[in-house]
Amino acid sequence: MKQFKFSKEIYPNIFKISLPLFGEKPGPINSYLFPGKCPTLLDVGSAFTTGKLKKALWEHGIHFSDIDQIIISHGHPDHYGAARKIVKESKSKVKVAIHSEDDVWLNTGSDAPSRTYADFYKLMGIPFTLRQIMSFFDKSYETLVRPLQADLFLNDGDLITLGNYQGKILSTPGHSKGSICIFLEEANILFPGDTILNHITPNPFVMFEKEIDSPWRLSQKEYYDSLARIEALSPAVLHPAHGDSISDLSTLLASYRKTYAERQARIISLIASGEQTVYQIARRLFPEIKGGMRLLVEIYPMISEVYTHIQVLEEKKEISSKKVGRERIFFSP
Ligand SMILES: [Zn+2]
Repeated sequence: MKQFKFSKEIYPNIFKISLPLFGEKPGPINSYLFPGKCPTLLDVGSAFTTGKLKKALWEHGIHFSDIDQIIISHGHPDHYGAARKIVKESKSKVKVAIHSEDDVWLNTGSDAPSRTYADFYKLMGIPFTLRQIMSFFDKSYETLVRPLQADLFLNDGDLITLGNYQGKILSTPGHSKGSICIFLEEANILFPGDTILNHITPNPFVMFEKEIDSPWRLSQKEYYDSLARIEALSPAVLHPAHGDSISDLSTLLASYRKTYAERQARIISLIASGEQTVYQIARRLFPEIKGGMRLLVEIYPMISEVYTHIQVLEEKKEISSKKVGRERIFFSP
């Protein structure tokens, strides 16, 4: 396999381009280049690293205008931020494809209006000052992207050409509503986006609905159902959107499932120790995150993690909840 300055061949004529991303987690984003018949990019990184992506393509004699399509694994800003610039430079020759359920991210830089987030934060019991800082912080994420329109929506089972390969789209909701994986059946390799990562425990995030402060879709359940579908394909190697490739999927998924069971048990015991809001549970579940910048960076994933577990526990009737004022309180039934 060939190694270039900005890219690395991970399979014959498929190249991984690592693009920096601020913050420690989840680390640099991997964009994948499929040159050939239908030159394709799978994810393109944030708007800040467009220049680096351009240099990486140039190592292969490819300009942005030579790309036929950009496939976005899911709508989080670090995966599509550079897309609009590429489309513009190609004079709209490049077509952008995403699952329709993540299209809202592409158009607006978020999955729900800031009002919906603000109401949710209040319901979760996050203190006023922290909420103020969080909404300011949320805005900074929007600088990662330049909104754009998709040209094509991808659905489960669709067959697409990437470079010289044929790939099958797998709809794998959980990390986001419209997360997809791409399976190259002949090569037996799978591109899971952020659905499966090697170096961090995965994040099934809250699935917001406009104007609804208690999201109802069970992200954790949908996520683990998606993992089961991926596992059934038995891919030999997975090339995720962050970090290194994965060749032992069953060991990794066993560790995910172990963490899941432990976390649910811990949340039940925290709730048993007294009525609490999601915010209070999150602070006790992650005592190592004390405050300051670290808390600001981690607070949303913390809240999302607790809330999505609690949804499943409530569904199983292992815990109950009631609304007190503008907060939701959880307790043992
Ligand atoms: Zn993501």
